[in-house]
Amino acid sequence: MVLAKNGEIKIEHLIKRARPFSEPFRVTSGKGFRLKDIDPGDTLHLQSEDKPRAKEALAVGVHLLAELQEMLYAQDRWSVLIVLQAMDAAGKDGTIKHIMSGVNPQGCQVHSFKAPSDEELDHDYLWRSMRCLPNRGNMGIFNRSYYEETLVVRVHQEFLAKQKLPQKLVTKNIWKERFEDIRNFESYLARNGIVVRKFFLHVSKEEQEKRFIERIENPEKNWKFSASDIKERAYWDDYMEAYEDMIRNTATKEAPWYVVPADNKWFTRLVVAAAIIDALDSLDLHYPKVNKRKLEELEEARKTLLNEKERGKKSKNKS
Ligand code: ATP
Ligand code: MG
Repeated sequence: MVLAKNGEIKIEHLIKRARPFSEPFRVTSGKGFRLKDIDPGDTLHLQSEDKPRAKEALAVGVHLLAELQEMLYAQDRWSVLIVLQAMDAAGKDGTIKHIMSGVNPQGCQVHSFKAPSDEELDHDYLWRSMRCLPNRGNMGIFNRSYYEETLVVRVHQEFLAKQKLPQKLVTKNIWKERFEDIRNFESYLARNGIVVRKFFLHVSKEEQEKRFIERIENPEKNWKFSASDIKERAYWDDYMEAYEDMIRNTATKEAPWYVVPADNKWFTRLVVAAAIIDALDSLDLHYPKVNKRKLEELEEARKTLLNEKERGKKSKNKS
């Protein structure tokens, strides 16, 4: 499917149609934000019988994304950083797989952040993220991110102890300070042409249980299950508090959070695709226009190639 064939109008139209799916879930200011105002089972006006249509819409969205990414790459000015955060089994991996299924792998990198290594612990906490930022013209996906520094590290403070920070710097203000550092970091990125969009896939505790059971009972999904997932589940309320505080303190206009209902995978993917399309659209992307000299160069090359072809034909006729 080549969307651009029908001209820019079609792309504009599709972008417009995608917008209503992401807008309701965008948080640009954390003031008054409450996680409990977002229902993980929300599907807007769509019912489960709309699922096939939603899947079709996602397929169109994926092609649109690919088209926009091509322009992002060709223009080579902006880059996009997509941050995905969620509890286990909320659907991060599946979302990445679906959303990115159409894009050119050459212009996209995915990084998964796990518990830090010794080398990483030997540096400041943003160090490992800095090294993985997307190149200009590229899309980067962080599957978990520096936000874990205000989530798992906050819920289990033994991780903080491992970070070898000077004792004097570890005060009760540490989370407030980390939020401030992250806001500043994201402003810095924005000023460098790295567009940050953050997603919290908000799954309910009941749906997580269902998905864990599915992973245990279905042999093809066994590999996805780890006993530590159950341990983390026991800290559910602490995590929800940490997520809420994180969104309150780090949702900004330049780097908004999307709190995406995640109990229905088809809906989650639709919202995330729509939000990335919206971010790319805001960049006014277009293929680079070539200057007069370049046009002359192209014409010259065309002539050379045509002459070559002519010569080839003549020598074939002679022989
Ligand atoms: P995921 O759980 O993201 O689907 P996975 O199951 O393949 O991925 P895990 O071994 O569970 O991989 O690694 C992710 C774990 O790493 C999460 O529990 C997360 O909280 C933890 N983690 C990520 N960043 C940090 C950090 N900065 N400090 C401590 N733990 C971290
Ligand atoms: Mg895990």
